[in-house]
Order: sequence, then C-alpha cells, then structure tokens
Amino acid sequence: MIVLSGMRPTGKLHIGHLVGVLENWKELQNKYNCYFFIADYHALTDDIKIAFEIKSNTIEVLKDWLSVGIDPKKSVLFVQSKVKQHSEFHIILSMLVSISRLFRVPTYKEKVEELRKKGIETKFHLNIDEERVEHIIRSDVDFIMKTFDIEVDKQKIKDQIYRKLKGDFLELLREFMKTSIELEEIPVNAEISYGFLGYPVLQSSDILIYRANYVPIGQDQLSHLELTRELARKFNNIFGEIFPIPEPLLTEFPKVLGIDGRKMSKSYNNAIYISDDSNTIKEKLRKYYTDPQKIRKNDPGRPDICPIYYLQKIFNKEEREEIYNDCKSGKLGCVDCKLKLFNKMDKFLEPIREKREKIKEDEILNILNEGSQKARNRAEETMNLVLKSMNLEF
Ligand code: SF4
Repeated sequence: MIVLSGMRPTGKLHIGHLVGVLENWKELQNKYNCYFFIADYHALTDDIKIAFEIKSNTIEVLKDWLSVGIDPKKSVLFVQSKVKQHSEFHIILSMLVSISRLFRVPTYKEKVEELRKKGIETKFHLNIDEERVEHIIRSDVDFIMKTFDIEVDKQKIKDQIYRKLKGDFLELLREFMKTSIELEEIPVNAEISYGFLGYPVLQSSDILIYRANYVPIGQDQLSHLELTRELARKFNNIFGEIFPIPEPLLTEFPKVLGIDGRKMSKSYNNAIYISDDSNTIKEKLRKYYTDPQKIRKNDPGRPDICPIYYLQKIFNKEEREEIYNDCKSGKLGCVDCKLKLFNKMDKFLEPIREKREKIKEDEILNILNEGSQKARNRAEETMNLVLKSMNLEF
C-alpha cells in the first residue's frame, strides 16, 4: 500500500512539525510504502520570487527529516520538480475539472478573503506595522509599571499586559476596517494567479501519479482530498480503472501553540525550531505565554488553557499529572514549570541536534537524487498507463 505526503520547503522546521507530522511519518514508514516529497512547485503558488530560497530551504527541511528519523532506506524522499510527470499529468487532470469547481476549493476562498482584507488595509492607507505598535505599547507599559512598587514578577505582568493591549488594539483596528467598507468592493481576482487557482489540481496529480492508496491528513483537510478523489473517479470512468481512489489516513495533528499563544508558525515568528540550541530554547520558553490570570507564583493556574502545559503533555509525560495538580493548586509557579519543561525538551532534542549537525549537504543531495529517481520510475509507469488508456501512445 502506498502513502503519499509532502511539505513545502519553508526552511528549518519547528517542534509543531515534529510532533504533528514527522512523528506520524516515522510510524507510517514502518507500515507502508511511503513517498515523502518536497513540494517546491506548490511553494511558488503564493509568491514566485520564493524560488531563490527553495534550494537552501530544501536542504534545511531534509536535515530535519533525517535527524528526527525519517529514513531514506524505508521511504522514498524526493523533490516534486525533479519528477516531471507531476506537471505532465497535471495538464491532463486540468481538463477534467471546471473553473467553477476550483472556485469552490476552501483554500481559494481563504485566499480571496485574505486579499480582500489586504485590499481594505491598502485602501485605508492602514498597513499595520505590528512592530511599531508593539514598541509603542511596550514603552507605555514600562512607564506605567514604574509607578508600581509591589512584590510581583514585574516582567511577567508587563509581558501579559502588553500582549493583551496589542491583541485588543489590533483586533479593534481590523474590526473597524472590516466594518467600514463592503468586502465585495475590493477586486481581488486580478491578484490571483492561474497557478494558484490550479494548485489543487497539481496536488491531485502529486497523489495520483504514484497511484497512492492513502494520504495522511487531518479532519479539517478532508475537503482538499475530495477533489483528488473526484478526479480519479472521473478519469477511471472515461478511460478505465487505473487509479485507486485515495483514502484519508485520518491523523490527529496536535495544535502546538507558539511563544505568543498563537498557532506555532514561522510567519508569526513564535516558533521553537527542532535545531534550536539549549540557550535559545531556554530563552524562548522564558518568554512563553502562560495562563494570564496566574500572576504571582502561588496563584492557582489553568493548565488546560496554558500552551506550556500542552508542551508538558508531549515532552514530559511522566510529570504531567503532578504538574497539572500543582499548577491548579498554586503550588507550582510558571518559572519552575518552564524549567521542568526545558529539561525534558532539551534532553529530547539534544540527540536530534547532534545528528543534524553531522549531516552534510552532499549526503542530502545524494538522497534526493536517488529518491527522485525511484519516484520517477513509479510516476513513469503511471504515465505510460495513462497515455495508453487515452490512446495517446505514439
Ligand atoms: S504553572 Fe505551568 S501549566 Fe500552570 S500556568 Fe504556569 S506555565 Fe502554565
């Protein structure tokens, strides 16, 4: 049975990728015939200028894959653009889908919404400089805190007040912009490329060209796989049974939150990376968002809403119960709690970091070349079947 999954070459991966995707891949590679790929063409659909960063980002991603235990002897690791059949089959599939169907794909709708919001900001000359907002709010909070002289962790209170103020301020500003203009007034289609509209078709080609049986996805991504299943059925109906209808391998991806309490993401600059050294991890954990109501060490906390506790559940399973109870009762303070987490997380990541440092660029390029050759063999087989069934063999 064949499993297919890919990642965009975004550069170094964070612990959200590790516990969400890579741990799952490690298990899958022991059970299935796995094809894991770097989706470099997909990365171009948002902004083609990213092309200049793709090669170095791919190296970093591969270093992370290998250092956490994705094994090129068990799985086929390759780059999408090195297997030309992805693009070739994409052209054929694109004749099987209507434009109106693509307009209904959720990612397209999200993109339209995002561009509309951007359009509103431009129209109002209100491009929000978040760094400046942060700077102003921080200086005001500093000033206010100087007027207090009480025995509490001032830095922590300051951080929490500033976060709350910044969040409220940005939300109010965006709300104002949204309500002040009709969303439909902003034309966005002109900014969306043909490649972006068609990328779900390329995604279908990525899966079908290997005649994959399973695709590991979360519940919220089911609609993305639906188009692929539709296209496989359509092709089979017209030209004969070539493709298995790919099934989702439903996977629970833990939602790891970043330093500021939002979803962990490179673009939010709030991530702990797999390759971060001990000091960097310690410093990032020190700044981490916690329960905002737990201001003094002995205040009772709410571990259920605390991102640090979420990480304790992943990296510190042995102590999780004790931490939960001690946080709730006020016996445990956030500084000590973060230290416990740091010790476990650092111990977990240390061998990964050591392995990562030893991986050479040449080794990665060899693995990708070999993997891409294996992928090409399978994809070529499929393309031959496709062309034969369509009577396009010359
Ligand atoms: S003690 Fe730990 S779990 Fe409780 S709020 Fe603080 S950091 Fe979060």
